Amino acid sequence: MARSEPIEKIRTIFSMTGTDALSERVRRTLVRTLYTQPTSLAIGAVNGIVISVLAAWLSGSQAILIAGIVLSFIAVTRVTAALGLSPDDDDTSTSTLEIVYEIGAFSYALMLGVIAAMTLVMELGAPLEVLLIANATCYGVGICARNAGRPAIALGQLFLVCAPIIAAALYIATLPFLALAATMFLLLPAMASITLNVFKVLRDSIGAAEKSAEMAEKMRILARTDVVTGLVNRAGLNHEMVEHLMALPEDQKVALFWIDLDRFKELNDLLGHTVGDRVLGEIAQRLTGVTPDGAIISRFGGDEFIIVADVDDRHEAERLASEVHAEIMRPLRLDGERMEIRASLGVAVMPEDGDDADKLMQSADLALYHAKVNGRGQTCFFDDSMTRNLVRRREIEAELRAAIQKDELSIFFQPIVDLSSGRIRAFEALVRWFHPEKGELRPDEFIPVAEETGLIITLGNWITAQAAKAAANWPDDVTIAVNLSPLQIRAPGAALGILNALREADLPPERLELEVTESLFLDDSESTNFFIEELSSAGVRFALDDFGTGYSSLGYINKYPFKKIKVDRSFVSGPDVGRKAEAIIRAVAELGSQLDMEIVAEGLETIDQVKAVREAGCTLGQGYYFSRAVPDYLAAMLLAQERDDGNPHRLIA
Ligand code: C2E
Ligand code: CA
Ligand code: CA
Repeated sequence: MARSEPIEKIRTIFSMTGTDALSERVRRTLVRTLYTQPTSLAIGAVNGIVISVLAAWLSGSQAILIAGIVLSFIAVTRVTAALGLSPDDDDTSTSTLEIVYEIGAFSYALMLGVIAAMTLVMELGAPLEVLLIANATCYGVGICARNAGRPAIALGQLFLVCAPIIAAALYIATLPFLALAATMFLLLPAMASITLNVFKVLRDSIGAAEKSAEMAEKMRILARTDVVTGLVNRAGLNHEMVEHLMALPEDQKVALFWIDLDRFKELNDLLGHTVGDRVLGEIAQRLTGVTPDGAIISRFGGDEFIIVADVDDRHEAERLASEVHAEIMRPLRLDGERMEIRASLGVAVMPEDGDDADKLMQSADLALYHAKVNGRGQTCFFDDSMTRNLVRRREIEAELRAAIQKDELSIFFQPIVDLSSGRIRAFEALVRWFHPEKGELRPDEFIPVAEETGLIITLGNWITAQAAKAAANWPDDVTIAVNLSPLQIRAPGAALGILNALREADLPPERLELEVTESLFLDDSESTNFFIEELSSAGVRFALDDFGTGYSSLGYINKYPFKKIKVDRSFVSGPDVGRKAEAIIRAVAELGSQLDMEIVAEGLETIDQVKAVREAGCTLGQGYYFSRAVPDYLAAMLLAQERDDGNPHRLIA
């Protein structure tokens, strides 16, 4: 059901102004033409008054005077009524407009005709008779043209102005008057045909203009709607936000919630886009349900949503943020399958965090970035220190480029130890940056910056080359493990670059091990497959790093030729360690022994942890208990020591 709703919504956009509404709008436009020229109405009125007064004065007839007064009264009332009603006022219905006009028009036309007929019957003399008949006929013909938009009114007026004259002419019944009656009678069908023609042209062109205006409006709405969720999209958000902020009372606060679903990409890749779309639809519905009326809810793109809502204060924004968060996290059922979606939220409040739409969005974006960096699944409100952090990141980016050239970076090596013999089997290369002012920077601080800026490709090549050179001096049975970022692997010629580094260092491919994380497999499997195939057929080995922190899909283990799985250190020394963690390590170790893979326990800091993971079945260990990452000469010394005393590591002692 959830899926069909947005489609429904789009369908309603299209049907909302069906043909009924359209013809009603055309009708109103036509009725409006009755009112558009009040001056012509006034001129007609003045003309009628002057001529009937003239006729009364010249003839001295009291009957004509009375008829003239009635006509003048109608004329003045009409013009006043017309000025009092506006066709642009939506409160006045189209039929009211039409009836008011009809009453005035019909009675006025009839009076004009009656006065002209009276001059004939009373035989007031040729000049007056000609004047009044000409006046009435001109009025009748002219009004047909003016009121062609409402042909019933136009022809009604023509009929009412002609009928008394025809009747009078028939009553007199002399030949010229019979001819007059016939001529005026023929005028009726002739004018009817002309008026109806004009009406048709008028109606069709108004109809066509209305239709294309309506179509354009639909297109505009569609361009601002997200098809998957039925919410407004990025363009719609911009539009609605501008309108909302323009109409905002002076001291009203507005909160912007930027929501990013965590690991949605993985869900999409694992379960397919159809499921992904349905999840998005469900989330959209939940957001709509939880936000106050009048809030703007949009799907900003991919797995990001933005909500803009008026709030009284920061407290209210916090309350709303936690409600939104709770709604998203509420377990979801799709086809009986239970899923849990997590999200990160960045929130900024106007005016304190930004006094226009752009700044508000920048602040919320920065807050969201912090929420994600702090481990996802969190809500972060913007504060000024975030801007300072951003500045720091920008600095890091600029300095990192220079640092690569200035040799401020070096590679440290951390041993990976055989848990049964205690011997060093490998070293993991970990990059270090010794900044002249900022001191030692951890890779967690600058690797993400390098990844975002693409600098990781240059940096990664350099690291691999250095690591291979160092390893070439070690005994043949010691391997070197190098961490690879997904971006590095997808760069063109990545595999070739690594093989070149090996050749230059004269290191056999079997002694290089590349550590990759699950995030590598999330997209672009084509180039990833090629990279892994190319290198593993040359002899390079692969290790799956940080296992247990992502989806921990067994599919990847099955598909790719991993020689090692590195169990993330959170299972060994993190806050989550306990029976569950131990059971997981045990299961992974069991899997490893079945599939002939080695299992490395990361982050071993105490002898108890070492014993525990060894007992659980891990074959290799890495951590401060054995050694921190050390410079190359110390790594060489550790190896030399181990081989000199014959009695390897203190673990065995
Ligand atoms: P990682 O691949 O999981 O590397 C292991 C990290 O755990 C290293 O942190 C290491 O110093 C730390 N560690 C080792 N033993 C222990 C222990 O007993 N206790 C604790 N608490 N920590 C321990 P480091 O060097 O700060 O590296 C952090 C991350 O940065 C690495 O995580 C890796 O993902 C990335 N990284 C480091 N060097 C490189 C590199 O050359 N290239 C790429 N692409 N990423 C790198
Ligand atoms: Ca690693
Ligand atoms: Ca790791």
